[in-house]
Amino acid sequence: MTARTLPPVNAPPVPAAVRHDYRRRGFVTDQTVTTLASRAARRWPERPAVIEGGRVITHRELLRLVEQIGGWLSAQGVGAGHAVCWQSPNWWEAHVVSLAIWHVGAVSVPLAPIYREHELRHVIALTQPAAVVTTPTYRGFDHADAFDTILSESGGAEVARLMLRGTRPGWTSFAELAAGDARCTAAQVQADDPCLVLFTSGTTAAAKGAVHSSTSLLAETRQLVDAWRIGCDDVSYMPAPLQHITGLLNAITIPALSGACSVLAERWAPDRAVMDMQRHQVTWTAGATVFLEELSAAAEAARTRLALQTFVCGGAPVARPVMERAEAQGIPAVRVYGMTELPTVTVMDGSAPFDLRADTDGALAPGVEARIVPDADDGPTTEGEIVVRGPERMLGYLVDAENVAALDAEGWFATGDLGRLDAAGHVTVTGRTKDVINRGGEKFSAREIEDLLLRHPDVREAAVVAAPDERFGEVPVAFVVLAGGRTGGAPALAHHLQQQGLARQKTPVDWHVRGDLPRTPSGKVKKFVLVDEIARRRKQGGRDG
Ligand code: AMP
Repeated sequence: MTARTLPPVNAPPVPAAVRHDYRRRGFVTDQTVTTLASRAARRWPERPAVIEGGRVITHRELLRLVEQIGGWLSAQGVGAGHAVCWQSPNWWEAHVVSLAIWHVGAVSVPLAPIYREHELRHVIALTQPAAVVTTPTYRGFDHADAFDTILSESGGAEVARLMLRGTRPGWTSFAELAAGDARCTAAQVQADDPCLVLFTSGTTAAAKGAVHSSTSLLAETRQLVDAWRIGCDDVSYMPAPLQHITGLLNAITIPALSGACSVLAERWAPDRAVMDMQRHQVTWTAGATVFLEELSAAAEAARTRLALQTFVCGGAPVARPVMERAEAQGIPAVRVYGMTELPTVTVMDGSAPFDLRADTDGALAPGVEARIVPDADDGPTTEGEIVVRGPERMLGYLVDAENVAALDAEGWFATGDLGRLDAAGHVTVTGRTKDVINRGGEKFSAREIEDLLLRHPDVREAAVVAAPDERFGEVPVAFVVLAGGRTGGAPALAHHLQQQGLARQKTPVDWHVRGDLPRTPSGKVKKFVLVDEIARRRKQGGRDG
């Protein structure tokens, strides 16, 4: 069988002289992710590596499982340059699979559990996977069936399929492989080869595939191990999906590099988190603002002091009162700033002065450079778009046009975020230029939802904006202009989005039907007018819709 391969990335690299400097200063090495599991098993064989669902797996046992799944992948012809898509809750099997993909030199393509047919179709078309890994029906969605349908539509009949916690014709069972004796040694690949594609939302209609190499991913991981002084006695707690950069780093790569252990949580339940953190003496965790807020409240209600040394909060704005409440509970929270494309723009650890942790989004990480590019129309200002470069920058996006828009010839990445940079290198994020809805740290492109709405025969125009939300920070709200004489209501449009296979979390929570939308002279929808309108209505005590 000839397996399909990941298309090449065509993006301007960081210039050679700068890369040479990263190497000279020790930020990048020749180490590859293929050796992560075997190195950890050699150095910390009896230490716990992952805890989930009542199971404790040591680094030695983890390697044995990785070799078994890797042996199966190799037997399917999956190796260097082949993409493997995997979608799963935070189960220990998913942890094994992610390391097994790297063990055979393949490219890991983690997919958020909330992705439905619409998103899966896009990812499969872009990455051309040689194998897919998923679960049977989970929370009402038959993942394996969706993969089967999409693969048969896209000529992927030969794609190898692995099923976690279930069986299905045409799929190999993880449990059977784990009970077998297949084995394989770590593959040889180059540190600059692609090893990971993470999908992230920008302003374009569909999620963008950001490609990382061992060089960037391990530079990133080393930054964090050093900054938070993680060692083999440390334990992380991870409720964020393993498929997001936060989950991937804190549950998989940081523990593999440092010998630490990760406790995986299948879903976020703050009371449960407090109990689990106590039971396993968790020392660090990471998540968006909503997690920090709810953990502080749960610890307060349980009258418990946690052993946490660092709560890494980022992915969304973090208000000072949230930091103060955490501090009062003895939770040393730090704000950090980064993104899938360059995950650690800033770092900070829990021992930094509180005001610095509460009022800035951290200090530039070693090797990372940032510039602020003010908008020419704003006159003299210290605020502007944050543009960054560093050893952990992705190789590029899978789609060439997206690289042209985001990366310049000197390797700088335009983040689409607004902020300030002080003389000591502290970054403060103040807003964004990009049209993205940030729901509790999970980002969606407004365009993606608008484009799907426009496929409905009754919808003539659509604009989706971010409305403030107490729990999630932001939620999507839609403004639509209907075709002449139609009176279709919100339920029909929400149903239409579900039918298009859009992830449920992206469905607008409120709908406004309009005669027209406010536009600039050049025809762009003035979204700030719509956002102001929502704020005004709320002030008056009215509903959005
Ligand atoms: P992601 O690629 O999903 O990690 O999302 C990255 C985006 O999250 C950034 O481009 C910012 O828009 C937002 N973000 C990350 N950290 C912060 C922060 N500390 N404050 C405000 N927004 C943040």
